This record gives sequence, structure tokens and C-alpha cells, in this order.
Amino acid sequence: MRTKSIFVLIVMLLIFLPLSLYPIPVMCKHYAHSPVNALVSQSFGHLGHVGVDYNVSVGTEVRAVMDGIVIRIEDKGLVYGRYLMLLHCDGYMSLYAHLSRLTVKFGDIVESEDIIAYSGGDPKDEIDGDGWSSGAHLHFEVRIPGYFDNNLYNIDPVNYIEMRDAPDIPTYERDKKYG
Ligand SMILES: [Zn+2]
Repeated sequence: MRTKSIFVLIVMLLIFLPLSLYPIPVMCKHYAHSPVNALVSQSFGHLGHVGVDYNVSVGTEVRAVMDGIVIRIEDKGLVYGRYLMLLHCDGYMSLYAHLSRLTVKFGDIVESEDIIAYSGGDPKDEIDGDGWSSGAHLHFEVRIPGYFDNNLYNIDPVNYIEMRDAPDIPTYERDKKYG
């Protein structure tokens, strides 16, 4: 479960290390999990979409997809609205946008499946700060190691969840497959 960590600074340093120095995912204790129990309504890559959208109503529980630490909390992002980012045990990062409420703070350690926020995105509701959105949904991205602030090299989040959800495939094979 979530606990405060004194290792936040060390982790922040790790983010900026070159890709080649990144640890292989030996620290991952759990398998990946979908952030919400819903189908993808807008796929990755469609019209330059850098993540996937899940069609969920406002207030839906949003869960960490993998073990990690909260490395960014933004309360009034212009496009993403209220969003947060996790750095996972394998160096990958995930981003959850258009949130109505957060249940974690910067530096919190989370496990796969922990509730980290509640979804938003409905322009007609009373909730402020959930960003530019045409309707209630969760926008979800996965960034590759080393690209904390850059969504140009994002990978398909569905592939990420699949690759971390396949215990029968050795770690090395999984990394080779998805780069
Ligand atoms: Zn989206």
C-alpha cells in the first residue's frame, strides 16, 4: 500500500539518467492492471493521439497500472487538466488525465491496482480543472524510460499492460519485443 518515501529525490535523479543506465524491471512485484474497468474508446495513434481514452463516467476509480511512485501532480494543466504521473518499477511512466479528484500526493508509493484518482472530463459538470475535454473519459499514456516530459515517443498503453501482464514470458524477451 501507499507509504511516504524518503527516496523521492533518488528516484527523481534516476529519471534523468540515460536510457542505457536504466535498471531492468527487477523491482516489479506485481503484474500490470488496466487503469479502469472499461474498453478503449479512442485508440493509440489515431489522429496523432499519444495515449488511449477509456469511456468512463465522472467519478470512476482510476487505478495504478503498475507498482511505482508519484512523480508529477498537476492541478491545472491546460489540456490535460488535473493529472498525475507515475514512475514505474521498470522505468516506464504512466500519465492519467482529466481527473476530477486525486487520492495520492507527490512522492507516494503505489502498487499495481491501488486507487490513485477519480475520473472526470465532463465539460457540463460542476468539477473545475479537469481540462479540455468533450466528454467524460480517462486519457491514459505510457512514456518510455528517460522521456519524463516528452510524449513524442509514447508507446501504446495497451501493449504496455500486456507486456507486464505476461508472467510466462521472461523479462528479457518482453523488453526485446517492445523496446
Ligand atoms: Zn486522449
